[in-house]
Amino acid sequence: MCGIVGAAATRDIVPVLIEGLKRLEYRGYDSCGVAVLAKERLQRLRSVARVADLASQIAKKRLAAQTGIAHTRWATHGAPVTHNAHPIFSRGEIAVVHNGIIENHEELRGELKAKAYVFETQPDTEVIAHLVHSLYAGSLFDAVRRAVRRLSGAYAIAVISKREPHRVVGARAGNPLVVGRGTGENFLASDALALAGTTDRIAYLEEGDVAQIDLDGFKVFDARGREAKRPVKTVRTSGVAAELGPYRHFMQKEIHEQPRALIDTLE
Ligand code: GLU
Repeated sequence: MCGIVGAAATRDIVPVLIEGLKRLEYRGYDSCGVAVLAKERLQRLRSVARVADLASQIAKKRLAAQTGIAHTRWATHGAPVTHNAHPIFSRGEIAVVHNGIIENHEELRGELKAKAYVFETQPDTEVIAHLVHSLYAGSLFDAVRRAVRRLSGAYAIAVISKREPHRVVGARAGNPLVVGRGTGENFLASDALALAGTTDRIAYLEEGDVAQIDLDGFKVFDARGREAKRPVKTVRTSGVAAELGPYRHFMQKEIHEQPRALIDTLE
């Protein structure tokens, strides 16, 4: 289970996505990627090297956009190669990033193949992309709500559609996902830490929630399909927690942080 960052804004959010991935790097990953909606189409860059490599690809291509999702992957299904890295597309219209495992992916794969969906990758994640695409009838939020009813397993996802700029839809079951509230811009992330420096106003999604972020706000439907309120709290997402500081590597940092972590936990 690795990292997710999503953003809907009126400024270029690619730097926010990359900064978010950098803050999640300490969790470990084997590949990373970003997909954005720019010039009315989905564009994607992926790497099996570090997030810094992804950042230099982005700089070279001058990728800029106001809507996007990004991911650090820790492969569970399919080799850690570029074409299996997330975001994963369906017919160039839907892009998905996913943390976790879809247990019934084989059954869904069979169903979707019967509907003429062509699978281009090995990860279980591709069934989510095609499922959302097959259920899309004008509302990404509704398509994702219908799609997650078919999924079993543990997941946090973020999805964008070529047809819905300035919107990201997320869902969680078993894996964490938060909404970051900005001013005229909003974010999704698997950990509030990913948004440190961008916003400290965080709403924690609950099990089974599906959330949509837009420019002016966000809405959430709970596991029973009812609209739900998730309070926005101000959290201390001090950037320090995600930075290496004086340590040589993150394992060394974690070892030295154990006394503090124990005290915080007990408190
Ligand atoms: N199961 C997915 C894959 O293999 C997601 C893994 C993850 O959590 O990064 O691509």
